[in-house]
Amino acid sequence: MGRRILFLGPPGGGKGTQAKLVTKALGVPHVSSGEMLREAMASGSELGKKASAYVDAGDLVPDDLVVAMVKERLCKDDALCGYVLDGFPRNVEQAEALANAMGSEGIETTVVLHVDEDQTVERLLRRADLEGRADDNEATIRHRLEVFRDETEPLIAYYGDRVLRVDGVGSIEEIFCRIVNELAS
Ligand code: ADP
Repeated sequence: MGRRILFLGPPGGGKGTQAKLVTKALGVPHVSSGEMLREAMASGSELGKKASAYVDAGDLVPDDLVVAMVKERLCKDDALCGYVLDGFPRNVEQAEALANAMGSEGIETTVVLHVDEDQTVERLLRRADLEGRADDNEATIRHRLEVFRDETEPLIAYYGDRVLRVDGVGSIEEIFCRIVNELAS
């Protein structure tokens, strides 16, 4: 099994939670483009300033900004033996930029979490209460789901035979077990 893994799934699909658990189990870094962007916004950096309007509206941040940010992260020493990518690539252009930078082995396995839309909206609205993320309101959530369908879902076909499909409904532990079993098989 490779240690360069991508998590794909709709907003609210639990990919962040599962990506973190897999990261810990494998001892590789968790590279979450969304978290990196939120950190940049909180720190008030140039990148954060450029990204904030897009993130708050639930739109994708322009590819050149996100690609540069993730490429820099993947060049750090701790990512030499692998990484779990969460939220990047999010469209075919980003996937091609990653393949150009890292070679076709830049992603060895893609884990796709399947969750239906009503459930994701419910989870995100609950998270809005807990974490207070500005992009977790119902209109923005619906828009992020649309962006996922239009831009990100085509990546499932793009990664083709490197895709593992996992049922994303159940407890955190149940879903984690399914992922580990799939990764091991
Ligand atoms: P979710 O998957 O729940 O929407 P993320 O933390 O992955 O949460 O992403 C939050 C927001 O950050 C996205 O709606 C988008 O604005 C921005 N973002 C994250 N990753 C990318 C990316 N790879 N390309 C463009 N924008 C991104």
